[in-house]
Amino acid sequence: MKRREIIKSLSVLPLFGGILSKIVPSEVMAAPLSTKRDLFKELGVRTFINARGTITFMTGSLMHDYVLETINNSSKDYCMIDELQDKVGEKIAAMVHAEAATVTSGAFSALSLGMAGILTGMDEKKVEQLPHLEKNGMKSEVIIQKNHQIHYNHAFINCGAKLVYVETAEDVDKSVNEKTASMHFLNCNALDGKIKDEEWLALAKKHNLPASIDIAADVPPVSNLWKFNDMGYSFVAISGGKAMRGPQSAGLLMGKKEIVAAARLSAPPRGNTIGRGMKVNKEEILGMYVALEKYINQDHDKEWKEWEDRVAVINNASKTVAGVTTNVSVPPIANHTPTLQIMWDTNRVKISGTELLAALTKGNPSIEAYGGGKNSITVSPWMMKAGQEKIVAARIKEELMKASI
Ligand SMILES: *Cc1c(COP(=O)(O)O)cnc(C)c1O
Repeated sequence: MKRREIIKSLSVLPLFGGILSKIVPSEVMAAPLSTKRDLFKELGVRTFINARGTITFMTGSLMHDYVLETINNSSKDYCMIDELQDKVGEKIAAMVHAEAATVTSGAFSALSLGMAGILTGMDEKKVEQLPHLEKNGMKSEVIIQKNHQIHYNHAFINCGAKLVYVETAEDVDKSVNEKTASMHFLNCNALDGKIKDEEWLALAKKHNLPASIDIAADVPPVSNLWKFNDMGYSFVAISGGKAMRGPQSAGLLMGKKEIVAAARLSAPPRGNTIGRGMKVNKEEILGMYVALEKYINQDHDKEWKEWEDRVAVINNASKTVAGVTTNVSVPPIANHTPTLQIMWDTNRVKISGTELLAALTKGNPSIEAYGGGKNSITVSPWMMKAGQEKIVAARIKEELMKASI
């Protein structure tokens, strides 16, 4: 037999891979090894120690190894996107106490898709008509508290909705009209608004309106994954690529069955929709799923202790510089993690916060911290790799010492 024929006949045997690998040159069997390439270096792209947090323009978070394994393994087979979303959605919904759930391309897309679901229901004609609402007989207004203004509310504008800002319960009563589609709550600003989450939901119920909530960056605590589903919010949006360290291009839409089902009509793979650009493939869907599962089951106290230890290392080093004082705090909602503020007396340490940040960025390895006022910087060590806190501590101390008189 010619070699080609041998291969052809072997391909029907179960031991295909094993035998074939002995007679086919290895470069045919295996893709060229590219894992050794350092593309950041090759392209001259600066990498850095993240002493700041889960910031989108800094690529968010580092995916856990089990997420990467899941992405690799799932990339080797085909499946139907809708079937995968159905099955994964059911599992996720059970984990977060929601009636239904689906993996989106981030919290922002969860907000857009959830909104689309509210506006269109299961009417496929309306799905195609988005973002043109009123002339197609759809509702068009979303009520939001003034102190809950954030650029991410643009997710609703993408659907054609108009944002109506209010301050009090009376404002809500006055603003509700036949065009009102929903009421939205921004959890990270919960302490700033006059109306709190329970009351907001009660107001929505009173007016027979769906209520949505953006909790994008609001785990930890892990309980926030189900708190607002338990409370009865119609839909809840969260990022997968922040504390959960799933794919940066993934998030979750959780909520009522009919809203999630309707939202999926605007989601890929369907094409004549506002959501077609918000694609998640099997790798992100499954990566998100395992990230969530691991996040729920991990030892949160242990992780918290690790973050505190890292803060302590940087704190202790900084404090040894004369004129430096520090403060450790935990933001109450969103990026709820030990955060260190380093301040100094500029009569004794002649550098501004902005200059110190620039020096850390320029150093080797480069470090990204934040704040950077007249005489202070802020460091959040939760997104660092273990051990990097020592480098950050040494570099901050070095720069502060250099500027000391
Ligand atoms: C990060 C964030 C978003 C956007 O989340 P993505 O997952 O990046 O789409 C929306 N809202 C808030 C409050 C956020 O912090």
